[in-house]
Amino acid sequence: LTFLWRQKKLQSVYETQVVTYLPFTLFPSPVPKAALLQALAVQTHFNTLVDKISQDPDFLGEALDRTIQADDFTAKLFGIYKTVQQEGRTQSIVMGLIRSDYMVDQREDGTPSLRQIEINTIAAGGFGVSDQLPVVHRYLMLINHGDESKRIQDQSRTREMTAALAKAWELYGQQRAVILFLVEDMQISKLTHRYIEKELWKRNIPVIRRKFDDVSRKGSLDGDKRLFIDGVEVAVVYYRYGYMPDNYTEQSWDARLLMERSLAVKCPDISTHLAGTKKIQQVLAKPGVLEKFFPEQPEVMEQIRATFAGLYTLDMGPEGDQTVAKALTSPEKFVLKPQREGGGNNYFGEDIVQVLQAVKGDKRRAAYILMDRIQPRTEQNILLRKDLPLKLTSVCCEIGVLGAYVRHGGEMVLNEVTGHILRTKSIKNNDAGIIGGVTVFDNPLII
Ligand code: ADP
Ligand code: MG
Ligand code: MG
Repeated sequence: LTFLWRQKKLQSVYETQVVTYLPFTLFPSPVPKAALLQALAVQTHFNTLVDKISQDPDFLGEALDRTIQADDFTAKLFGIYKTVQQEGRTQSIVMGLIRSDYMVDQREDGTPSLRQIEINTIAAGGFGVSDQLPVVHRYLMLINHGDESKRIQDQSRTREMTAALAKAWELYGQQRAVILFLVEDMQISKLTHRYIEKELWKRNIPVIRRKFDDVSRKGSLDGDKRLFIDGVEVAVVYYRYGYMPDNYTEQSWDARLLMERSLAVKCPDISTHLAGTKKIQQVLAKPGVLEKFFPEQPEVMEQIRATFAGLYTLDMGPEGDQTVAKALTSPEKFVLKPQREGGGNNYFGEDIVQVLQAVKGDKRRAAYILMDRIQPRTEQNILLRKDLPLKLTSVCCEIGVLGAYVRHGGEMVLNEVTGHILRTKSIKNNDAGIIGGVTVFDNPLII
């Protein structure tokens, strides 16, 4: 053993097989009831909106045109989208498992208002293992505060999110076909994936887990574009990976294209992935744009718009110039966002000035958008995660509302709000991220 350890072999096995608890807060954090209800009430409309955007090539093309000239990652995704578009769509079953995130902005006059931070359309997480957290928090509240425990709601979000995967599988209509979980090399959320997998096995839906590398070595399409891997047909590809540039090698890009061209249902397909970019979020906030998607439902449009924060273009032109000027004058009022996911990519304060000074004169600036900075309520809590000190901390919270939909051709066969999550971080951190080591799971204590 010592020999193997010195050879680094055992050491690497040990280091890659660590299991630790899900990071969480010791207590639930207060969340205003009206804000949470508002976020839950608008979710099915966001599901519809994301789906509509994904079906609108003109809108996607126009909205992302300058961004893809400045951002290589978005350009690569867009390249796959174009290829699939030109070949013609093969699959009329479309689905989304998405999460819309919010903070409660504490205005100067004291009124709280719900503000959307972003929508995640690929590998949206937060359900799975965390479904146990209400039980933990309710128990802690029960022993400390008696009846208060009733203010923590139960969650069956994994079962409900899984129902959409099951529906898509069922519509695909091949009893022996599997759902493929496309997973990361370093499988940080594996136990959550297993939670989802268990729900699927309960319905006799087989699951396989594969990496991009497995797909590039062993994946193939038959004459009807059915996707096969290791001899089994794939009904649904569920991406839990593939949302960041460093998730990809040249071969993985080919594997992604192979899957996108296939008859398998993709969760999400490439156009739904693109619908979740920060650039699309910014374009949606422009006057007149939401109207196009909900021409006959002004009340729906208003409900969606009521959650938007100020969002500003950085495309070349007078409007973008104004954005630059505004950001350079008062950087503390804004967040600068590139087209990235997973936390830790945004710029705050003086960093905004540095980045903008470097790119403000040319089209590279179109890789970013600018957003009003939200000032969330501050709470006190204890963050339990093995890399943080155990102490009472000033924290702020981000609500996440989960949504699931399945469309078959022109018909929405499932459109649900499937639960909510709460994630909490120290106010000392500007950006966030569960995997990045900043954020922990929490539960809203309804106030
Ligand atoms: P990602 O896709 O990387 O999660 P987000 O837009 O969610 O990108 O930003 C990451 C984090 O940065 C958020 O979880 C939040 O903590 C912080 N953040 C993002 N936008 C704002 C904002 N407008 N105001 C304040 N904080 C923000
Ligand atoms: Mg995101
Ligand atoms: Mg986020």
